[in-house]
Amino acid sequence: MDTSPHSSSHFSSSPPSPVALTLRRHRRDETRRLQEQYSHGRPYPGERLCGSDDCLLRCCCVYKTTGIHLPWYILIDRDESEDGVPVKDILTEFAYLVTTEVWPSIEKQSDVLLKARSIEAFVSSPPVRAAYLDFRTVCQKNDFDFSIESRLREALSSTMPRFRDLVTELDAAEQDSQRIEMLIHRHLQPPQQPGQTSSGRPPQWTQESCIMRFLLTSELWRRHGERHMRQRNWAWEEPWMVAELLSAVLLNYWLMDGEKCFAREPTRSSEQVDEAWQDWLDKYPMLEDESDDESERRRVRSPDLVPKPFGMIKGLDLDREIGYVGGVGTAARGPLWRDLRQRHDGDDEGEDDVLPQH
Ligand SMILES: [Zn+2]
Repeated sequence: MDTSPHSSSHFSSSPPSPVALTLRRHRRDETRRLQEQYSHGRPYPGERLCGSDDCLLRCCCVYKTTGIHLPWYILIDRDESEDGVPVKDILTEFAYLVTTEVWPSIEKQSDVLLKARSIEAFVSSPPVRAAYLDFRTVCQKNDFDFSIESRLREALSSTMPRFRDLVTELDAAEQDSQRIEMLIHRHLQPPQQPGQTSSGRPPQWTQESCIMRFLLTSELWRRHGERHMRQRNWAWEEPWMVAELLSAVLLNYWLMDGEKCFAREPTRSSEQVDEAWQDWLDKYPMLEDESDDESERRRVRSPDLVPKPFGMIKGLDLDREIGYVGGVGTAARGPLWRDLRQRHDGDDEGEDDVLPQH
């Protein structure tokens, strides 16, 4: 006889629908997946490059992917360059050559491969890709014409010593967060000319400051978190190594871009960025912490990384003609991997979604 609304509402609270349950599970899985990404080295969205918790500068908030911080594009690899060279081979080759140039004293082949793999992971990581896209955008907006390779090499070689000094300064200021913040802000933004503030004219980018921003953004990603740097094998010992290596990375990106190795994918949601991180983390797992024993090292080595013996590129003296590192700004020749094209003839693909020509 009790037909009160109270009792009827009590009986109508049915169990959640299958759709609602699925959605809830999906959200829970997503959250868990993101937490896992953060624990495997993806920086938290709130992390700022300058280290300050309150900084609102866009150039510092590079790990945020929501709202206005969602990047416009993601840089993805095409399968092959315009000459039909597999893009993943180019990256592997580059990482191997850089490793043998910067660390010639590593003797064991397995150690060389491990190091090369860590360089490859760095080069193809989402933050470095984003930094390159940013570099391209700033160049285009400011009409910096790097259409000639020698021009970029020249600008790189004049920026490199300044960047090396900056790395030294950052190391020295390790305990001084205010100084670090100041140094980072100064070098991620266009340079302020003396007396410019009063004139009202916004600071102008220069070629060097634009290169500096790429180098510093990549460097701050490399050194983000002591444990992460160790587990990625990214503790490059000396400031000159950092400067040479990152300059080589920028030059290599630029060269690969010119050879149509990349496509820009418009970003529609932050899930797309999450996906890119997941792909990268799956492909390049971190080393076990504190584990130096051989079996662990072997475990994380990629099965598809084949040893590339010295001298595989015919007619080239690697010691003298490397061009990427040690000779950035001076070497006159083009990229090493162009020599590979003879082996992969023909096969002209469509050119949709290719980055604008240099
Ligand atoms: Zn900042």
